[in-house]
Amino acid sequence: MKNYIYLLFIFSSFLLLSCNNEDSLSPDITPSKGLNTKENFCLDAYLPEEVDSIYTGITTNAALLKSKKWNNGQIIKIKFLNGTPFLQSKVKQFAEEWLKYANLKFQYVDSNQNADIRINFDNSGGSWSYLGTDCNRISHNQPSMNFGWFTNFTSDTEFSRVIIHEFGHALGLIHEHQSPASNIQWNKSKVYEYYGGAPNYWNHDEVDNNIFYKYSSTVTNYSAFDSKSIMLYSFPSSFTLNGWSSGWNTVLSQTDKNFIAKEYPGKTIIKTNNLYRYNINGQHFYTSNYAELGNNYYESILGKIYSSQISNTYPIYRYFNTINGDRLSTLNWNELRNGGQDGWKYEGISGYAYNIQQPNTIPIYRYFKSTNKPDHFFTTSNIEVSGGKFGYKYEGIAFYVLR
Ligand SMILES: [Zn+2]
Repeated sequence: MKNYIYLLFIFSSFLLLSCNNEDSLSPDITPSKGLNTKENFCLDAYLPEEVDSIYTGITTNAALLKSKKWNNGQIIKIKFLNGTPFLQSKVKQFAEEWLKYANLKFQYVDSNQNADIRINFDNSGGSWSYLGTDCNRISHNQPSMNFGWFTNFTSDTEFSRVIIHEFGHALGLIHEHQSPASNIQWNKSKVYEYYGGAPNYWNHDEVDNNIFYKYSSTVTNYSAFDSKSIMLYSFPSSFTLNGWSSGWNTVLSQTDKNFIAKEYPGKTIIKTNNLYRYNINGQHFYTSNYAELGNNYYESILGKIYSSQISNTYPIYRYFNTINGDRLSTLNWNELRNGGQDGWKYEGISGYAYNIQQPNTIPIYRYFKSTNKPDHFFTTSNIEVSGGKFGYKYEGIAFYVLR
């Protein structure tokens, strides 16, 4: 996906028709559940004046250089033209995924106010969106985005897949399979046959324009082809000559995140690392750096911790006891401070975690065994060493980590 449409001229007369007829803009679809389950697919919505250059591959006309990107840092106003509070809340929830990486803001305004993105729920119209700032080049009375198959029974996975995808279009992204970097070896007759059937009924021109056609590299910013992109349809292997297929992408891929962060730079991206637990001959060791011990003595991942401090998180201070080999991780600086007593040596900050429960976090329980080889033991299970098992005594919740 990662193909920012700086301009597009790539479409066919069919798309022109589509643009004149909202109903025919249909579905951005729903990929792949295989050929047996026919589903609707997403068609991009293009401005009529840009549809004429299809097949020409124009690259020299300055007008084509107009970007569809929003201004970096821009507040994009959004309104709902209809839809239940439940559906609207789902759109807000999943659209937000992009804002973790893109330096943009969404502001939801009342339906009587002007908005850049106007969201419609019409189950007769498929799912689609105009691309980037094109949303402002059509009448503000018209929807710029439609969701065509949501109900109160739609799963979160489907909300995630479709909403993130359509908002990708609204931020200016095209379909990944039409990226200049795409090199899919199509079995064209199979593809024509599939999309020609229910419920899409696309003719050959429509299939050409929505599946086979690739944007010129001169009009797009793009990454290497990303088979995990949220902007890629799901294609079964029967659609290709070499057995390649793509799965059901329902969340942003790492490349999607990196790409949108590059296109709209400046967002502080919060990174997380796994917190690994190792067992070194009966004494446990905790690190967010897998390279520290690798597979040697590896036991489990307790969860994720932040690599930099964000609000409501605290440093995890790490200590090593040079006398008895014990290791301790604590949010409480006053517990051992700089070390130096009883053999404790301060080793630095492993990362950052919460001291109280937050959404999507789990507690890390702390136990201590004083006999034999002393060992501070951290676990996500409150039964792993409970009840004095192996001599461990419960000491409380150490901190909360992300699942
Ligand atoms: Zn689409």
